[in-house]
Amino acid sequence: MKSIVIGSGFGGIAAALRLRAKNHSVTLIEKHPDLGGRARVFKKNGFTFDGGPTVITAPYLIEELFELFNKKPQDYIKLTPLKTWYRFIFDDGKKFDYSGDEDQMKKQIKEINEEDVEGYEKLVRFTKKIFDKGFTELADVPFDKPLIMIKQLPALLKLKSYKSVYSLVSSYIKNEKLRRMLSMHPLLVGGNPFTTTSIYGLILYLEKKWGIHYSMGGTGNIINGLEKLMNEEGIELIKGHEVISIVSSNNKIEGVKLDNQKEINADNVICNADPPAVYEKLLTKNKFSALFEWKKKRMQYSMGLFVYYFGTKKTYDDVEHHTIKFGDKYKEHLDDIFNKKKLNHDISYYLHRPSATDKSMAPKDHDCFYVLVPVPNNQSKIDWTVEGDKMKDLIIDKMEKALLPNLRENIVEDFYLTPDYFEKELNTKFGSGFSIQPKFTQSAYFRFHNKSEICEGLYFVGAGTHPGAGVPGVLSSAKVLDKII
Ligand SMILES: Cc1cc2nc3c(=O)[nH]c(=O)nc-3n(C[C@H](O)[C@H](O)[C@H](O)COP(=O)(O)OP(=O)(O)OC[C@H]3O[C@@H](n4cnc5c(N)ncnc54)[C@H](O)[C@@H]3O)c2cc1C
Repeated sequence: MKSIVIGSGFGGIAAALRLRAKNHSVTLIEKHPDLGGRARVFKKNGFTFDGGPTVITAPYLIEELFELFNKKPQDYIKLTPLKTWYRFIFDDGKKFDYSGDEDQMKKQIKEINEEDVEGYEKLVRFTKKIFDKGFTELADVPFDKPLIMIKQLPALLKLKSYKSVYSLVSSYIKNEKLRRMLSMHPLLVGGNPFTTTSIYGLILYLEKKWGIHYSMGGTGNIINGLEKLMNEEGIELIKGHEVISIVSSNNKIEGVKLDNQKEINADNVICNADPPAVYEKLLTKNKFSALFEWKKKRMQYSMGLFVYYFGTKKTYDDVEHHTIKFGDKYKEHLDDIFNKKKLNHDISYYLHRPSATDKSMAPKDHDCFYVLVPVPNNQSKIDWTVEGDKMKDLIIDKMEKALLPNLRENIVEDFYLTPDYFEKELNTKFGSGFSIQPKFTQSAYFRFHNKSEICEGLYFVGAGTHPGAGVPGVLSSAKVLDKII
């Protein structure tokens, strides 16, 4: 059996390895000269900037890929658990160190609002129930038939999946700061906490179950380890070539055509590239049913991301590895981003400082960072060639005030990525950071199916398909594939 994987994100690599373990002859094709997709690495003058994922959860999903071939993960990668998972900074300057230490968590909650300690305990218990169903039971189930979804509906309703994550958290927690903190998880997978189905409340529990890890040498080191494994196991890697069409005949896959006009035949094509872009640009000769066209058109896309990477000539030792700073008008900010599609100066941001844990990420006595700000996706028509520098200045001003004094004068290396990068370089529709939004009406059966309904032999893994974005999500999508191919 010959299988082609298009794209080398975590989902694509996991799919290639899982199919190889089933003895398929596998070719993985990546547009860029390097692997990883959103997890690509940018190296500049001694700084190592992980492009995307930094918070590693459910590490077993990565380790399993090595174990498929009886290899020891620790011979390839080194994951280390973090003590403080996130430091939250509120607009009044108060801090909260979020971790797996439940005593410390409750102590800090008590300082903010004593009444919420009990609510927090109840919330954690409830998210465990969601986790047991939504992750343990359903994350790797192929939702390609309506009956599978219908069977799950009573349980999903019992788990209040019609509520948003923010609304679920608010039913247990009274304090607004704590509500924001405990409901922020959808933002990690491209959703607005005020509209994302409470199924995604499972991330709160998933973090507690296995902890939050860092990959020494950066997340890129996991990609390197997986690349080494793919080479050892005989997966053919074609880098620096884009698939320009998927070839089929009588609705059966025949192969792909590359940008150098070369055609490669295969029994299966597994797309790790963003599904809406694949359906629109790589399958132009295929006919879609009216129902499928409707489904495709009604999809709502995740927010865009402005990611500013910078290195400093001094170290900011009191800054944690992961910091989240909420803006004052958080809800309005999210509404501007997701619904009104306009920029708002009252930004919230996530700051990554890998050199807090791993000195190899920056030259000696220097610090390495990236700051991620949710922004509207390219449905906004924002001209990033004009707004990019303004956004960078705004972010530096905000960070100078809140946690990195004299930042501007200490920056020695920097660059930024906007939704244009995600659209043009990573081929995502509207430059969304995380493909389609994780809403109830776009989850499981309602998402782009892992097994395409358009063509026999066509499959999807990655953020736009079930179960969704985030490294654990896309690795789980490859486990779904394992069951259907
Ligand atoms: C800035 C940022 C921070 C994040 N932080 C975290 C985090 O801390 N923890 C976490 O779990 N998740 C995080 N995420 C989410 C996570 O990174 C993604 O959901 C996940 O990596 C997406 O993987 P994927 O398998 O969908 O593929 P992608 O990474 O989207 O890769 C798809 C690949 O397909 C290639 N491609 C597309 N079209 C073609 C074509 N026609 N021919 C050949 N190749 C093609 C692209 O070049 C790309 O390499 C973050 C995302 C971003 C952007």
